[in-house]
Amino acid sequence: MDKKNIHHQIRLKIHNSGNQHRASSPRPFIIPIFIPHAGCPHQCIFCNQVSISGAKQKRASPAELRVQIREFLKYKKENRKPVQIAFFGGNFLGLQGEEIKSLLELAAEFVRDGQVDGIRFSTRPDTIHERSLDMIKDYPVSTVELGVQSMDDHVLALAGRGHSATDTVRAVERLKDRHFSIGLQMMVGLPGDDETGALTTAQRISDLTPDFVRIYPTLVVANSRLAEWYKSGDYAPISLEEGVTLAKKIYLKFLKAGIEVIRMGLQTSEDLEDGTTVLAGPHHPAFGHLVHSEIFLDMAISAIESANTIKESLTIFVNPRSISKMRGLKNSNIEKLNKRYQFKLIAVVPDTSLAAEELMLG
Ligand code: SF4
Repeated sequence: MDKKNIHHQIRLKIHNSGNQHRASSPRPFIIPIFIPHAGCPHQCIFCNQVSISGAKQKRASPAELRVQIREFLKYKKENRKPVQIAFFGGNFLGLQGEEIKSLLELAAEFVRDGQVDGIRFSTRPDTIHERSLDMIKDYPVSTVELGVQSMDDHVLALAGRGHSATDTVRAVERLKDRHFSIGLQMMVGLPGDDETGALTTAQRISDLTPDFVRIYPTLVVANSRLAEWYKSGDYAPISLEEGVTLAKKIYLKFLKAGIEVIRMGLQTSEDLEDGTTVLAGPHHPAFGHLVHSEIFLDMAISAIESANTIKESLTIFVNPRSISKMRGLKNSNIEKLNKRYQFKLIAVVPDTSLAAEELMLG
């Protein structure tokens, strides 16, 4: 490409649906309570929930939970709203009825005294039925997250989930009828799945119009059944590069539909960080950042390519919050652009007039 002057500025923005209502809802302050593997009818092949949450001890007593919640509340900034107590790491509505009620009652104490605004939990789609929803109707539960993982019944069966895609569709309908805020979690890289399958799952999830989603890459976790398949050669995980690119395509699909992606990649715990728990798979402590960086790299390439001529040096303007996404981890995006176009100098310059997902070449 001819290296002369760019005579005009090029501005690019990630396309979204413009559904500001859903995209701009404030992020809740979450007080996480891990209930590892609680209420699970069995262990799904990819899961060893004890390892993932880093919680190896037996479950905390109500008194310990109260202390835990009070400690967490100390970190809340004055104007941070809404505050939610979240039960994660198991199959909440798969617990015994008495245990569900006692945990909800404990959390409700904090809602009643005004310190917390609501409760959320994650559960399997097949636990959402009229009976279970009737049981929790008097508690201030605002958000329910479903571990959907896939909308392909063959992939679900291979993963040992024990529920179908239809269970998810029915669960979402029931939750909508009762006006819960709904989060759906999906996975990429499951056995029997591929890019087309994962994009189809994303489309079907998008069609269900949840309030938010999470995207998790499948990791081979020690003491899971998937670890046995991996060791025997029956399962090969996708690479980090594939995982990031696939998560990017899915993220952009949700963004276009106006559905917020609140997390990409596993929440790290000390176990995951010291490398003892994850045996293989596309794990990276900054997985979400890698996805956003690849999006910015794509935007920069697209802007450069659409210029008739390019200079020997390049200035990329981005919102101050997006500088590290544009630069990439350890300046990897800058290196890639230099390698591709042999710029003598690339400057990434903050510009507050630009939106967080926008860039401009100057
Ligand atoms: S994936 Fe969810 S339902 Fe399956 S074993 Fe783990 S915590 Fe339980």
